[in-house]
This record gives sequence, structure tokens and C-alpha cells, in this order.
Amino acid sequence: AIAPYIPGRSTTDDGRKVAKLSSNENPLGTSPAARAAFAGASNSLERYPDAGASELRETLAARHGLDPARIIYGNGSDEILHLAAGAFAGLGDEIIHVRYGFAVYEIATRRVGAVPVIAPDKDYATDVDAILAAVTDKTVMVYVANPNNPTGTYTSRAEVARLHAGLRPDTLLVLDHAYAEYIEGDAEDGGMALAETASNVLVTRTFSKMYGLAAERIGWGYASPAIIEAMHRIRLPFSITIAGTAAAVAAVGDTDFVDHTRAHNATWRRWFSDEIGKLGNAGLRAVPSQANFVLVVFEGKVSAEDAYKGLMDAGFIVRWLPGQGLPQALRITIGTEEETRGVATALRALVEAAG
Ligand code: PLP
Repeated sequence: AIAPYIPGRSTTDDGRKVAKLSSNENPLGTSPAARAAFAGASNSLERYPDAGASELRETLAARHGLDPARIIYGNGSDEILHLAAGAFAGLGDEIIHVRYGFAVYEIATRRVGAVPVIAPDKDYATDVDAILAAVTDKTVMVYVANPNNPTGTYTSRAEVARLHAGLRPDTLLVLDHAYAEYIEGDAEDGGMALAETASNVLVTRTFSKMYGLAAERIGWGYASPAIIEAMHRIRLPFSITIAGTAAAVAAVGDTDFVDHTRAHNATWRRWFSDEIGKLGNAGLRAVPSQANFVLVVFEGKVSAEDAYKGLMDAGFIVRWLPGQGLPQALRITIGTEEETRGVATALRALVEAAG
């Protein structure tokens, strides 16, 4: 069997190639411009970064039509998610997230002594009514990823608006847009417009996925001045590096790389979901995804655990999620064409071998 993935390696000890489809990274790598900017930063290793990250904020503001003063940055969007809980929640407060949500929400909630409140899903998708029903007078925040991880499901603009309208003005709605660039047809859920106009909405974004910079840990957020200021008060002075920032700024400018990644992902996400659909007789199904991964549910002879182990033996590392209440499913990142075809073929072989 293949040993667990070791960061930075793409082969096993005995030299077999491993396809890592377990962390939703960009299978096409990183923009060449970002790589060059990263290398160029080695000329200033003795310097501290700009604590205000002005170049990054100005670049993002120009690209997305935002106010640079309302952009916060951090060590991946993970840090922004933690800053939100740190600034707005404390002992005994309640923070809502969906049943199959991103693991950091619960960690960030417990870290500040707050209580995680789980809203049930609707066939793996975010259920706005269930979230609103979970609100109590102790609710201070709601985390919603759109598209959601690990399910890949998308909550429409109208549903996001309905969720926001149903919350008290003093409840912070955190819309996590880690996968927003992958939504079909470049649609968006209206989160940025809400963050622009409402005082209780924070949108978080990342360079780790579409921009292929997961190693460099650059995330950012957009919200009203009061929210941004409260988070600045508790952040570390230098949470992002000069090299990472240089790479991120260059990556924003390389729209060809982003367009290519989006088109690649849309093509192979559709293809892979269709292939899983053909295994429906064997009890497999793909949850409709708008992200760069697909959640495959196993309801037949082959269990998700069997498939996880079988794929590992075949050289494909995917994510099995029993710890997140999903022992019946695998989350599989859309890889290169070769990896995506390979993992589909390996899954089919497992199903056929089981009869
Ligand atoms: N939000 C979601 C939904 C994610 O899936 C991830 C990473 O997998 C993140 C946030 C954090 O990403 P990063 O800290 O690399 O920006």
C-alpha cells in the first residue's frame, strides 16, 4: 500500500507516482509570473514585509473594484476565519455552521470558547431555512462556504440574500469564497456586494486554490470598516511574507492562467461527475459541484472506505471524511486530465471487481 502523502513529494518510497487529489490544490501548478516574482523576492530576505500589505491591497482593490482600506490579509484565509471568531465571539456565544462544513469553522469556534451549532444539510447542500432555524439570542456568527467544502454545493445569490436578510444586524455572516472562482459561468453569489453595503458581512478569499499558491499562505477578506478594524486589532503584525505577497500580486495579473484553470476545471469536473453517474447502478453518485472537487457518495456494495484504500493502492490519494461525519463519501479533487481519467478508471475497476 502507498504510504501517506508526504508534503513536497510526488512518489512513494519505491518510486511509484502518486496523484494527490486530497487537498483541492491547483493541478496545473502556479502562474509562471507568480513563480518569477517569488524567485525575485530572494533579493530582500533581510527585510521585514510591509505590515500594511499596501501593494497587495491596492492590486486586489483594482482587480475587483473594491476599497483597499476594507481589505484584510492573513496567513491563508484560515487566519481570516480565525480572526473573525477572535474579534466577534467569546465564551458561551454561538456560531452556526452547516453539518458538512469546512473543519476550521468548528476549530475557530472552540478556540475562543464559543459553542458550535450545527445546521442540518439538505441532501449535502446548505439549507438556509435550517441555518435560520438554528439562530438563538446567543448567535453571534454564521460561517457559510460557497461553494461549500467538502460537498462542493453552491448556494444561489437569492438564497444568500435570504440568509442575510433573516439574520439580526449584529450577527456576523462570514461568506467563505475559497472556491468562488470555480463557479460555472463565472457566476457569483452576491457576497462581495453585500460586504460592500451591509455592516455585518465578511467575505474571505484565498490564493491557495485557483491561483495555485497554497504553499505561500495568502488569504484576504473584505468587510465594513468596523469589522476590518476589529480584526486588525488582534492579528499578528507580519502574517504574510514578502515572497508570498510578490507571488500573489503577480498571480492577480496573470488572467490567462486563471482563465485556463477555470476552463480546465469546468471541463473535467463535468466529465468526472458524468463518469460517476455511469456507476449509479453500483450505488455511486456525484453530489453536484461548483468547486474544484467532487464529493462521491457510496451507497452500494463498494464502501467509501474500500474505495479509499483501493484508490490509494492504485496511486490516487483522495479524501475520506469519517471524522467529518461522512464515512459514506470521498472528496476527490479535479486533477490534470491524466489524473482525472486515471482516478475514474481506477474507481470503475474497483466497482467491477466487486461484481
Ligand atoms: N475555506 C475553505 C472552504 C477551504 O476549503 C479552505 C482550504 O481548504 C480554506 C478556507 C483555507 O484555505 P487557505 O487557508 O489555504 O486560504
